[in-house]
Amino acid sequence: MSSRRLGVFGGTFDPVHSGHLVAAVSVRRALELDEVVFVPTGHSWHKVPGPQAPALDRLAMVQLAVADYEGFATSTVDIDRLGPTYTVDTLTDLQHAWPEEHPDEEAAWFFITGADALADVQHWRDPEGIIARAQLVGVSRPGHMISTAPLLVGHSTIVEVATPDISSSQVRERVSAGESIEGLVPTVVAEYIAEHGLYRDRPVAT
Ligand code: ATP
Ligand code: MG
Repeated sequence: MSSRRLGVFGGTFDPVHSGHLVAAVSVRRALELDEVVFVPTGHSWHKVPGPQAPALDRLAMVQLAVADYEGFATSTVDIDRLGPTYTVDTLTDLQHAWPEEHPDEEAAWFFITGADALADVQHWRDPEGIIARAQLVGVSRPGHMISTAPLLVGHSTIVEVATPDISSSQVRERVSAGESIEGLVPTVVAEYIAEHGLYRDRPVAT
């Protein structure tokens, strides 16, 4: 049986930006992953308010962004599942579907997070379930120290790389203020945002 090394990159991707792409390219290369699957969240339980753009727009932007990259794919498991998105469910659903679609291949799973998210994993739902299902990969993010909680020791790998200092929040704020986002997101994503009028209004504070 052949074996595949699979990265899972979960995120709100509201919208996907060049920091996400550099991080995923770097991890794929450093860990010799066959594929990185971008998985946009349905509803992010830890974000208040939730995502600004509808799930299907966030998914469409991720699909446009990854189309030109070798070894990148997208999955809708978190959008298809009702209710809040928990990473343990993301991994469970992907791992359930895998043998049905690839009966002759084994898979080794890696869950990719930026440094900010890695520091939070211990507070996510069922962290033991997460580390039982995948090796965690923490990738550097400007302005965030990479710290490995005791729970993750032996279950995580750090990839140190200079990712650009870009966030989706910054992209949304710039669009809302009528400023250019050139260079922050792929051109196809900037075009999608403009065509669909996304992020023009500031979210109402709750
Ligand atoms: P927001 O500002 O809305 O929180 P974000 O830029 O943090 O958006 P998310 O969708 O929240 O993007 O992040 C998805 C994943 O990508 C997280 O694991 C996050 O740490 C990681 N990530 C986002 N931006 C970068 C970056 N510039 N470098 C490295 N990792 C990043
Ligand atoms: Mg974030």
